[in-house]
Amino acid sequence: MKKLKKNIVDDISFGAIVKIRDDLLSMQRQGKKVYRMESGDPSFDVPDHVKNAIIDALKNNRTHYTDSTGIPELREAIAQKLQRKNGINATKDEVLVTNGGMNSLYVTFRALLSKNEKVIIPDPMWTEIGENIKLSLGIPLPVDVFSYVENIEGMNLKNVKAIFINSPHNPTGKVFSENEIRKIVNIASENEIFIVSDEAYEDVIFDNLKHFSPGSIYENTISLYSMSKSYAMSGLRIGYAHVKNEILKDRMKKLLRCTINGVNSITQYGALAALQGPQDYVSMMRDEYQKRRDILYGYLKNSSYLDPYLPQGAFYMWNKIKEYPKGVKDTWEMSEYILKKTGVGSTPGPVFGPGGENHIRFAFSIETEKVREAGELLSTL
Ligand code: PLP
Repeated sequence: MKKLKKNIVDDISFGAIVKIRDDLLSMQRQGKKVYRMESGDPSFDVPDHVKNAIIDALKNNRTHYTDSTGIPELREAIAQKLQRKNGINATKDEVLVTNGGMNSLYVTFRALLSKNEKVIIPDPMWTEIGENIKLSLGIPLPVDVFSYVENIEGMNLKNVKAIFINSPHNPTGKVFSENEIRKIVNIASENEIFIVSDEAYEDVIFDNLKHFSPGSIYENTISLYSMSKSYAMSGLRIGYAHVKNEILKDRMKKLLRCTINGVNSITQYGALAALQGPQDYVSMMRDEYQKRRDILYGYLKNSSYLDPYLPQGAFYMWNKIKEYPKGVKDTWEMSEYILKKTGVGSTPGPVFGPGGENHIRFAFSIETEKVREAGELLSTL
């Protein structure tokens, strides 16, 4: 094989949880019952009116190239949603439709960062955030998510280009209060720093807590959304970004044109139907996730080995490992041990950053009955 010079992509991890997933799949092939709690994919089906809109678009041959930033009707519907629901003063020309939230993250950091510029991110954090920052030659600065604001207040912000907010937060399920977000905005504004706000879980929020969008009070925010969680459209790959800054907007548009050149046309019509159609599906899913949270928490809070954090949003339960079973020496082995004993998949905490040591995450996006069964098995560990 021809040798290649080292490239920035070589520093990106190749899904550190691949081993756990492979083990899970191999157990499944052997006919063992497994619980796919290692990753957060909604168990719900896409609502019928969304499916029908996609089928209609196909039948009507809406299969040609679209604007690389998204069809105008969809961008208009998104702008209206951003105004109505998020309080963001958005126009359709400030909206970019992307291939999932993941693609929004890539174009945002690529457009924003120059070499060695820093982005403050919560610790622990969904792995892909740090990786996307590194891909854009930036440096992620992990800061404890549970004292995010206090820590940022005491930091030297030289060479910090942006503060990243993710509320509700993956992997802990923490929801940032309006007050916390206002404090972060004040710091950002005083120091002329951007905010990147990942609101992928804005609709999965429990106990009547309110979601607050920093873009509603701070123009130098890039706000990112995903249809994967709000409308269970994960495999259809659609999300969107809102950006006001003209330079960033132009850069992001160029990046979209030179990478995906537009999300597949028929999914965009599905997204339009999702945004314009009845929204009761969204609250139905949220209520069901809350039920799953309560079931799982009920089992885990009495565990001899795990100490769960009660999530206020998203669909992940973050657990401190308070004691390791005999013969198990670290988080990775704990994840393997749980899988072998119960068939329950999990993600070892260190995948999410230094704050993930001695922690483990379970996704409760699988069916409610399966969450109950998994909880019961986990309680007997
Ligand atoms: N942001 C966070 C915090 C996530 O956890 C995810 C997916 O798990 C995403 C963004 C992006 O999701 P998608 O690319 O499916 O829209």
